[in-house]
Amino acid sequence: MTAPVLNAADPAAIARAAEILRGGGLVAMPTETVYGLAADAANPRAVAGLYAAKGRPRFNPLIAHVGGFDEAARHGQASGLAERLAAAFWPGPLTLVLPARPDCGVCDLARAGLDTVALRAPAHPAAQSLLTAFGGPLVAPSANPSETISPTTAAHVVEGMGEAIDLILDGGPCRVGVESTVVAVRGEGATLLRPGGLSRAEIEAVSGPLADAKPGETGSPGMLRRHYAPNARLRLNASAPEAGEAYLGFGPGAPDGALNLSPEGDLAEAAANLFSCLRRLDSETGAIAVAPVPEAGLGEAINDRLRRAAG
Ligand code: AMP
Ligand code: MG
Repeated sequence: MTAPVLNAADPAAIARAAEILRGGGLVAMPTETVYGLAADAANPRAVAGLYAAKGRPRFNPLIAHVGGFDEAARHGQASGLAERLAAAFWPGPLTLVLPARPDCGVCDLARAGLDTVALRAPAHPAAQSLLTAFGGPLVAPSANPSETISPTTAAHVVEGMGEAIDLILDGGPCRVGVESTVVAVRGEGATLLRPGGLSRAEIEAVSGPLADAKPGETGSPGMLRRHYAPNARLRLNASAPEAGEAYLGFGPGAPDGALNLSPEGDLAEAAANLFSCLRRLDSETGAIAVAPVPEAGLGEAINDRLRRAAG
């Protein structure tokens, strides 16, 4: 069944969209860049559903959309520089990657297990209304299947993913969209992670010179780490733990008492649990054996992250 398309200017449509999001569903919403596929950033099952709907073969960290700076500062550690950048450019096409607060409301899966959180306040009035009605952060990558062109009209969304989502808010064509510029801010230092809709010169007028992200840099000072990297040694496709290893199971066959990504073998549940399970075992042990996870559907993204975490 194709998702209904409702007029984003209608308050009843916004209320319906917020209700779907609270229930863990997926809503396409207009932003000033492109149409985004919104899900509750705090709900790992909803975020797993989003990755499944997009058919993404990897869990890239997602941008959490918020109403403004005060809300952003509840999830990320915002320095004076982060506050000045938000004051200058929000709402608008600037994403700030900040160290995540311990009580960050953007779930591990949405952050791909990283210690940082990407935050942006979108300028489109429909996105702002939806954020207000929902009352929390929404992740929203472009509302198109992986590897296809980003949608700038509601009709594009219907064509590409109408069957895979719950509701489409039509806010007319987007201002032809470049993606947001992504800047990591730690203390008074800032690094350009991705060029986008806001120019380097405009940002540097506020921040001073931006450092460039070095490709493949894994993260002293931690800011630029591109994937989750545990301290523990990871052994993959392990049918059972060896001496000294903690076991992370998948499916019904796992040993009793072992942590299990999904006792029923449900890949969406496994995706939702992946990073929190790894973090927990990493804090308890130096060696983790992980059960085989099938390569189908979300399993491809789970295995991709497991291989990176092991590598
Ligand atoms: P998209 O939502 O498709 O516009 O892409 C999100 C962009 O933000 C990608 O380039 C991500 O790599 C980047 N991003 C999101 N979260 C983080 C993070 N915690 N650290 C670094 N980059 C991030
Ligand atoms: Mg895209």
